[in-house]
Amino acid sequence: MFVYCPECGAANSPGSKKCRICSAKLPSEGKACDYGKFDFESEPKASKAVAPPAYLGLSITLSICCCCPLSILAIIFGLQSNYAFKNKDYDKADRKSNAARKTILWGVALTFVMWIVIFVSGILD
Ligand SMILES: [Zn+2]
Repeated sequence: MFVYCPECGAANSPGSKKCRICSAKLPSEGKACDYGKFDFESEPKASKAVAPPAYLGLSITLSICCCCPLSILAIIFGLQSNYAFKNKDYDKADRKSNAARKTILWGVALTFVMWIVIFVSGILD
């Protein structure tokens, strides 16, 4: 990680206090991108405007179509994701959203297997 001079743009070795080309004062390490115009550090990391998808529509559809117990679990994960987002717990909201998606995928996969089994057993009957 080089420290770039805000005056002349020269790359300086990490930890340098002054530019080796123009002797301008260098920004402290870790703020190499801060040219005084944008203060990225002041932007809170957890300032998401968009909630992670809760897949509620999908999981409700799945529960109506096949009464799969996994879809109930997916609805619970989706609701937990929404709830965590409202409480500004964005990490948890993301995790629950992922859990809901995985649960729906498993539910769909199991439903297909179930249908195939029913179909095959109907043919063999
Ligand atoms: Zn310089």
